[in-house]
Amino acid sequence: MTEPKGRGDDWTVQGEQGGGRGGTSDEGRSRSEGGVGRWAGPRRLEANTANGARPDSGTPLLEVRDLTVNHGQLRALDAISLRVFPGEVYAMIGANGAGKSTLLRTIAGLHRPAAGSILLDGQDLTRQRPERRARQGIVMVPEGRRLFGSLSVEENLQVGATYARKGPWTIDRVYETFSWMKERRNQPTAQLSGGEQQTVAIGRALVANPRLLLLDELSLGLAPVIVQRIYGMLPQIMGTGLTVLLVEQDVSQALRVASHIHCLLEGRTTLEGRPADVTAEQVEAAYFGLAGAAPAGQPAEGSESLWPG
Ligand code: ATP
Repeated sequence: MTEPKGRGDDWTVQGEQGGGRGGTSDEGRSRSEGGVGRWAGPRRLEANTANGARPDSGTPLLEVRDLTVNHGQLRALDAISLRVFPGEVYAMIGANGAGKSTLLRTIAGLHRPAAGSILLDGQDLTRQRPERRARQGIVMVPEGRRLFGSLSVEENLQVGATYARKGPWTIDRVYETFSWMKERRNQPTAQLSGGEQQTVAIGRALVANPRLLLLDELSLGLAPVIVQRIYGMLPQIMGTGLTVLLVEQDVSQALRVASHIHCLLEGRTTLEGRPADVTAEQVEAAYFGLAGAAPAGQPAEGSESLWPG
């Protein structure tokens, strides 16, 4: 499953699915899917170690204030607030249906909130259209990639440049960053592996020169080795001055790359803090909505660690 195909392609593994959710079922999602207990109320863990310092002073690049979003009768987000500072990787975690994608899509302007506000660099853009937000630097890599499968790699990158701001990212720079891409630039993206498609989707976002890059479930349907390779590119990408807000169900991956994590459960905040300040048990309790979380350092009874080692 995780053996390379041996055609000099770093982003493909045998058995890997192409676009979309791969082997992950998107059906039958409901509010009860991820919750196996009662919600214990939000927890904010204050920084108390020198590890993983967070640039949490000054004006946040992104501020979300008391954001409430409904899908019909369903309250998908309930008064969510967060602040993302320049240069950080802020990770939203949570089970299926927690509201993570709704949050990213609302920030990108694809859902209209029932209440609350969204500010970029102190400027309120809650009522702005998605393309206006893109021009101001909010760009999303959507869940499932959403490439134009019949268009070539390069044509997809050109689509990303439609609302491009001035900045360091060009199509050539994307080719330099993802070295396999240039020689396959004329290939329809439907013919690429899932990992390759994901990197094209990232490239498409980068050529818009975002200030804030929204990454929705990069790991979906991809083999772990590919996921690690994609996340391994983050420091290089961040080096061009980006700030990242990402959504991830793979908690261990999120904890590895993020300077701040924020856990949602059924549309509400259950935990937030720096990875260095949270224990596996606290994250598990917040993720699954377990009441009476085990004290720090002690595994909750009957629970398995969400990440290896
Ligand atoms: P997943 O990882 O499964 O995508 P998520 O945390 O991203 O989960 P959302 O996709 O934001 O969660 O969904 C939150 C809730 O809103 C779910 O109950 C989902 O079924 C519902 N939902 C999401 N989008 C819509 C929509 N367009 N119309 C109606 N309900 C929706």
